Amino acid sequence: MEIKEIQEEIKRMYLNKDRERGIFATFTWLTEEVGELAEALLSGKKESIEEELADVVAWTLSVANLEGIDIEEALRKKYNLSSNEKGRIP
Ligand SMILES: [Mg+2]
Repeated sequence: MEIKEIQEEIKRMYLNKDRERGIFATFTWLTEEVGELAEALLSGKKESIEEELADVVAWTLSVANLEGIDIEEALRKKYNLSSNEKGRIP
């Protein structure tokens, strides 16, 4: 599964809820998950770090969906990724 597909799946599952909540409340959830990731990193527990990274990515995708941004396209543009480097982030 590529990031574009993951963004579509997150959109399918959560866009209605994200819209009801609104961009700033959704962004607040993202920042909360970043805090949880910090705690997980401090704990050193790999399973917790994995879970919180997943949360941060999922909430980031929710923010992108609300803003109508294709995250794969944004990453390619920002990091000058070519189309044959799918999924690679520096
Ligand atoms: Mg979390």
